[in-house]
Amino acid sequence: MAKYKTALVTGGAGFIGSHIVDALIRRRIKTYVIDYLSTGNIKNLNPNAHFTKLSVTNPQFEKCVRRIKPDVIFHLAAQVNLRHSVVDPPNDARINIFGTLKLAHLAAEIGVKKIIYSSTGGPMYPENAKIPYSEKIPPQPISPYGISKRAGEMYLNYMYHVHGVPYVALRYANVYGPRQNAKGEAGVISIFSNAMLSGKSVTIFGTGKQTRDFVYVDDVVRANMFAMNKSVCGEFNIGTGKQSSVLTIFKKIKKITGYKMPVRFGAAAAGEVMRSALDAKKAKRSLGWQPKVKLDEGLEKTIKSFKKKK
Ligand code: NAD
Repeated sequence: MAKYKTALVTGGAGFIGSHIVDALIRRRIKTYVIDYLSTGNIKNLNPNAHFTKLSVTNPQFEKCVRRIKPDVIFHLAAQVNLRHSVVDPPNDARINIFGTLKLAHLAAEIGVKKIIYSSTGGPMYPENAKIPYSEKIPPQPISPYGISKRAGEMYLNYMYHVHGVPYVALRYANVYGPRQNAKGEAGVISIFSNAMLSGKSVTIFGTGKQTRDFVYVDDVVRANMFAMNKSVCGEFNIGTGKQSSVLTIFKKIKKITGYKMPVRFGAAAAGEVMRSALDAKKAKRSLGWQPKVKLDEGLEKTIKSFKKKK
């Protein structure tokens, strides 16, 4: 018999959350979704999920979670935009810090068996640390978004030690794949793919030599499933350990889509990190997780899904 019968996915109408919902429903776990649809889309949502449109900042949120009384919670609802967090840090904290704290507090009260938290990798580590970043490097976030994600992890750690609610915080690299919103800023693959498929111009901000670690969404979903099923607790990097430059990504997508227009270059974003990649050896050791989908394969699948949507 399955260990968990009922799951709650906050942010389950979003890019990553909706794929987690699909995986839970495939496992015949009764799945509830709370999402404010601020960046998510109801079209992403599996019709077998039980959906409530609600913000984690709304007082009704607590009542709703108590009513659902889930065995396991996947917490993805968040202010996800690093630049917005710089413009309005209190709003970022209201959603990301207080939302997570409220949920962790409730989880202790209603006896949730596990919380799996979507955290972040790149913004967590000091830029001058050795790449790929390992969890052994003490977090030193310098953006409000990085700080709020770290605060979420720390509150979960507190709830675990004081109230015994186990948690796994998954620190993602740059996730890409079907359903990623092209309006987002971190989703360079979805932005480039959608622009090229629509014959629109593509702008690279900076030299294009800045690197990121791109991990395919199916691999991220598998990490969440392993985190649910294994008796482990703590923070885990989820990435490939490999760096790909934005220019390389541009060229690969150009080749797949047959795009002919020249690329434009714009001013680099202030404070943008030049290099980033995550060491996921701890996830391999403790969760038995490692990425399976190679970049070329993931790009093909992603572009195919965007083409189908158009
Ligand atoms: P997304 O924007 O598609 O998903 C976030 C979801 O949360 C959306 O459906 C949105 O409507 C919902 N939401 C936002 N504010 C809410 C609120 N106040 N109340 C209820 N719902 C709210 O983004 P995503 O890429 O799927 O990100 C999912 C999670 O993973 C986030 O916590 C994000 O910080 C984290 N993450 C993502 C990446 C990435 O590369 N995509 C990397 C690191 C961490």
